[in-house]
Amino acid sequence: MGRIAVIGAGVAALAAARSLVLAGRRPLLIAPDREVISRGETLSPAAAALLARLQWADLLDAESALPSEGRFSVWGDGTLRRAAQGEGAWHLDRASFERQMRTKLNSDAIECHPIIVTMLVHHCDGVVLELGDGRVVFADAAIDCSGRAALSSGTAAGRRRTDRLVAVWRVLDLPDDTEPAAATLIEAVALGWWYMAPLPGHRMMLGLFTDTDLLPPGAAQNGATWTSLAASTVAIAPRLRSLGLDTTAAGAPPQVAPAATVTASRLIEGRILRAGDAAAALDPLGANGLATALWSGMAAAEATLTLTDGDPERADAYERDYLQGIAQHLVTQQAMYAAEPRFADAPFWQRRRTVASSHPNQEISP
Ligand SMILES: Cc1cc2nc3c(=O)[nH]c(=O)nc-3n(C[C@H](O)[C@H](O)[C@H](O)COP(=O)(O)OP(=O)(O)OC[C@H]3O[C@@H](n4cnc5c(N)ncnc54)[C@H](O)[C@@H]3O)c2cc1C
Repeated sequence: MGRIAVIGAGVAALAAARSLVLAGRRPLLIAPDREVISRGETLSPAAAALLARLQWADLLDAESALPSEGRFSVWGDGTLRRAAQGEGAWHLDRASFERQMRTKLNSDAIECHPIIVTMLVHHCDGVVLELGDGRVVFADAAIDCSGRAALSSGTAAGRRRTDRLVAVWRVLDLPDDTEPAAATLIEAVALGWWYMAPLPGHRMMLGLFTDTDLLPPGAAQNGATWTSLAASTVAIAPRLRSLGLDTTAAGAPPQVAPAATVTASRLIEGRILRAGDAAAALDPLGANGLATALWSGMAAAEATLTLTDGDPERADAYERDYLQGIAQHLVTQQAMYAAEPRFADAPFWQRRRTVASSHPNQEISP
């Protein structure tokens, strides 16, 4: 039985490695140790069935995940509404979630190398991996789950960044005497959109999503400048005040993370398959990145098993399904942005207002 290397240690990689273990393999997991930062992400309801398939349903415990009570938004007009979607989701402590996945995998006794992969080279019947310490490892196939770094993506991958979305965010400790609803709040503003969601451990994530070039001076460096951008919001500012977070949010500088949409036209090259953000990175507005990372890690692992047996059919189906999923996601994403008709002169919205007329009957909003 051939050896399969999994590159990365995020959700996609851990799902891929676990799938290989469940198929009776002992995968090789290669990724540098990194501090995982919990930024308060929403795990979509689709993740439950995937975790059950991995026999990891117990990961959604009180330490890692809060069941969501739904999603509220100010989007399309100045009214606060409850969105149709959002039920059945979880508010995730990402660091705790990944830590638990990793602990369970360690008990599966997989082979781990805590080091970066510097290069992947195709070989006639496998892949050569060059590691950061100069060592070279051979594998029959490799699943690239290196996230937005997309280690294996050369020009043939057709990887394309379609916007400049960036998240400027902080996780705030909630005062002891507050009991916020476990719900997401999203509000459109001229600059982009605000996102507010609870995390396990009595914390709240607050983030502004905008384009890098539109960030006002100081907003990424100065907590007060960043929070002041929320001053005229209909729902975010009152919620911050009601939770006693308005002055806390103005304290330390926020963190910044790239959040641009990145698409690709090829996910497989020879015996290398890409999964998770290394395959395609989705706009967090749809809150689908984590479930997609889980699904694609699992599907890529299953496809790799038949590919190394000389049967490319499953790998071809994986690529086809994934590319179709991305296309569908982009349509939904564009319809979400098109559902906000205000801010007609604002560059952030002008850049995204491309499909309003092609989806006249589609009622989609965050
Ligand atoms: C601000 C923000 C908010 C988001 N909010 C949500 C949300 O609410 N809901 C949701 O579903 N999704 C959300 N997402 C998307 C989600 O976080 C990603 O889709 C998901 O984390 C992708 O997982 P991954 O395993 O593919 O990549 P990652 O988690 O990025 O993991 C990549 C791994 O590869 C390793 N690596 C990188 N380079 C190398 C190398 N050369 N060699 C070896 N290892 C390497 C890294 O160390 C890491 O372990 C958000 C994203 C952002 C930026």
